Amino acid sequence: MKKVLTASVLALVLAGCQTDEKSSEPVEKDEKVSEQKPSEQETKKPEEEKKPETPAEEEKEEAKEEQEKTPPEKEKEESTPEEEKTEKKTTEEQKQEEQKPSSQEPEPKKEEEPQTETPDTKGQAESADLGKGLLVVANKKYALPIGYRPPDLTVPKVRFSYAGTLEQSYLRASAARGLEAMFNAADKDGIELFAVSGFRSGERQKTLYDGYVARDGQKAADTYSARPGHSEHQTGLAMDISARSVGNGLTQALGNTKEGKWIAANAPKYGFILRYGPGMQARTGYMYEPWHIRYVGVGPAQTITNNGQTLEEYLKVGH
Ligand SMILES: [Zn+2]
Repeated sequence: MKKVLTASVLALVLAGCQTDEKSSEPVEKDEKVSEQKPSEQETKKPEEEKKPETPAEEEKEEAKEEQEKTPPEKEKEESTPEEEKTEKKTTEEQKQEEQKPSSQEPEPKKEEEPQTETPDTKGQAESADLGKGLLVVANKKYALPIGYRPPDLTVPKVRFSYAGTLEQSYLRASAARGLEAMFNAADKDGIELFAVSGFRSGERQKTLYDGYVARDGQKAADTYSARPGHSEHQTGLAMDISARSVGNGLTQALGNTKEGKWIAANAPKYGFILRYGPGMQARTGYMYEPWHIRYVGVGPAQTITNNGQTLEEYLKVGH
């Protein structure tokens, strides 16, 4: 089984069929490896040493502090378009982080300019509004502070596609409870789901992104990888799930399986939306991802799904 999974995962990576997830997501072995040395491992030697890692307690503490010292209202005020050039106070650190990979690039200031070729740099990134709680939006337009960690990360008691506990095993508590209820319901319906990838730190996203930039160049990297701070996985409210029928891969083929159909039909009952639904690319900025569910709470999830909306449309924010 493991060989099969690994092979399918590598096939996925090679196919490059994921957007914000890519090779980081489905990989069992690679994931463990890349927890420590993603840029090198993921780009060159995906099979090397494994070093499982769990979010340390002190990191969680940091997350609390980080969240507390980031007043959401302030961020929001600062993110008006007129102030784009000067609103970098709260995102200063993140900007610096983001620009480090540009040592590979001839023009470090690229992000300051309007871009057409890179999908998530239409303008300067704005700060995600953490004050929205479970409805926080991290997308190509809104970025979380690079050091942000949700305060209540926990490991949901569900079936995972790998053994052990990794950073990506975690979700925020409410999302974890929702996922457990959803997996239990799926089991009763004879649907076997596997959790693949949940929380991902901004630091880890940066390492991944930097690796992609080093390997493929920034322009190419931007077509399939979220920039640091921009991945919804950093909210701790998103989980990638899959099924044996597609080798637990994060592939659009999941959408045609009974498991994928079950997910789409039932996730909202447990507070999750299919975040990047079919035909929503122009409205979310991401290709169809039948594996990526996002916790928003039961009420909003049902409203959003029944209305055929994206999270951005529901909240009337940009992407
Ligand atoms: Zn995902």
